[in-house]
Amino acid sequence: MLPIERRQQLLKWLREEGSLAITEISRRLNVSEMTVYRDIKPLLDEKEIIKTSGGISLAPISKMSSTTCTYCLKELNSRHPVQIITNDLKVEQLCCPHCGLLRYKDIEKDVSQIICRDFLQNSTISAKMAYYLMGTDFNLNCCQPQVLTFESIKQAEQFQKGFGGVVIRFEEAMDEIQKRMNGAGGCSCKK
Ligand SMILES: [Zn+2]
Ligand SMILES: [Zn+2]
Repeated sequence: MLPIERRQQLLKWLREEGSLAITEISRRLNVSEMTVYRDIKPLLDEKEIIKTSGGISLAPISKMSSTTCTYCLKELNSRHPVQIITNDLKVEQLCCPHCGLLRYKDIEKDVSQIICRDFLQNSTISAKMAYYLMGTDFNLNCCQPQVLTFESIKQAEQFQKGFGGVVIRFEEAMDEIQKRMNGAGGCSCKK
């Protein structure tokens, strides 16, 4: 396994499990602890991960170095950020799913992972698996047209009952945002 592959695998485990001990990482990757330290150095330098007692964990999104949205350059709204991890392991922060999806569309080939938050539970989910709710009466005060992300279709539909809108999937959501941006109303994004 190349160092970049080990880093990718490591980030995957951290996203699934929260934190990992160095000894455990060395065991799973079947490399020495020295190699693990060498592998994680760039991630520590980039503040993507942080040291914990005896191990490492993902850096909390709010403590990440960048404070503006990669797409619209707005100050990051910490409640519903989206993260894009590129194939060369750069982490981009987007203010909301609206910008996350538009940015994804721009750099699709270079994207390794796109991660968002469940709107109600605030848990971390893969944006490709999420359910998107568009056109609700609930206003996040971020970019328009607004999209909310949910892990379960059930909760998306429950929210939809109260606040209206349509539930769609990842690919449709990307097209739908672009479609609605061409119409009246406009988008507060820079582009
Ligand atoms: Zn944005
Ligand atoms: Zn936004």
